[in-house]
Amino acid sequence: MLTDKTEFSPLAARNAMVVAILLLSTCSTSFSAQASTVYSPYQAVEMCDYVDELSFNGTRANESVQWQSSLGPRTIGSNASAVLRASVQENLTQWNVTMHEYTVEDITFTNIQASLRPDNFTQDTPRIVLVAHYDSRDAAERDPDVNRTGEPIIGANDGASGVAALIELARIIPPMELEYEVELLFTDAEDKNHTPHTFFGADAWGADQTDVDIHRTDAYIVLDMIGDADLQLTHIWPGNGSLWSTITPLAQSLGMVEGHPDCNGEPGVKILDMNTSFGVSDDHLAALEIGIPAIDLIDIRFGPNATAFGGYWHTHEDTPDKVSAESLETVGRLVELGLKSDAWIWNASIRMQQEVAEPVEVVEEKSERNVESESETYPFLASVAGISIFAIIVLIFILNRQMRTSLK
Ligand SMILES: [Zn+2]
Repeated sequence: MLTDKTEFSPLAARNAMVVAILLLSTCSTSFSAQASTVYSPYQAVEMCDYVDELSFNGTRANESVQWQSSLGPRTIGSNASAVLRASVQENLTQWNVTMHEYTVEDITFTNIQASLRPDNFTQDTPRIVLVAHYDSRDAAERDPDVNRTGEPIIGANDGASGVAALIELARIIPPMELEYEVELLFTDAEDKNHTPHTFFGADAWGADQTDVDIHRTDAYIVLDMIGDADLQLTHIWPGNGSLWSTITPLAQSLGMVEGHPDCNGEPGVKILDMNTSFGVSDDHLAALEIGIPAIDLIDIRFGPNATAFGGYWHTHEDTPDKVSAESLETVGRLVELGLKSDAWIWNASIRMQQEVAEPVEVVEEKSERNVESESETYPFLASVAGISIFAIIVLIFILNRQMRTSLK
């Protein structure tokens, strides 16, 4: 992955916080005013029915991490990258695997898309997209050895872990005989040392999506840096709120939430902490931008006692010995449970409403997306919201000046 979204100067941080609080208060007002129309599009499902039959194998996934790492860095256009692509193509025999090559800014990269559709597939069949980047970073800018910051990293966690989970899921999904399409998207060129940071692979995928594709895609879930032996998952923003709300009950069922017993009554341990949130730019942005509900499952505190965007992240310490089969299995089981229980499929009546009258967009999501695009990634502001933010910023600027003047 990705970019750190958390760096601000103290003054900017304070201003941002004021803006955020004002924005949030505006949003919560609009939420409560329309409380009767705020709902999640995801259907209610019974998860405990499936917990005892989960089969995701973390040991197998970890073997894939070891193998991918043994290829060396899978940087864009490298031989190791081509070997990995060929392996995915050879192994996913039950899937329709296609290679998608693009050239952007003189960089040529290749996404792998693997699709599995039900027999009765139509253009209305829902789709869930599971995503991991298969390239490894071509720099180690955080490495303590300044002589090696220009060398590519192994990316056992940042790259191979997500890919390993997708490959293991590719093995166990076909027997599930799901009634919807699953697409496994292996993006290239996610982690190029490029200014500004650009998600080449995911962006190219996003640009290829038709309105029909977008409309039937109920969830897009990124798996990145999920192998840390000291696994600590949190809420990540930006991300679709309704989709995030499906993750908590899944994690609780599996004993991943402190204070909540799992389906067998065993106490939960703190693996997912939804009370902590980090801002992370990753491959999920491309889907959010085109209106697909998307989230990023990522442990951005890589290593024991690591801080966010610290630890082994983007260093030469991102090696297979830091990745554990247990962590891979924990995340893999969560995804498997979500798939088996249909937790990420929209309620049929909501889908129908959308088909009949186009703009019956879910209120909560729409507001949330507006907040996201206004507050960060995209400089394009629409109508009233933009004007309000401008007014708030001007107000803060004036207050700041007044405060400085009074301090003199
Ligand atoms: Zn990275």
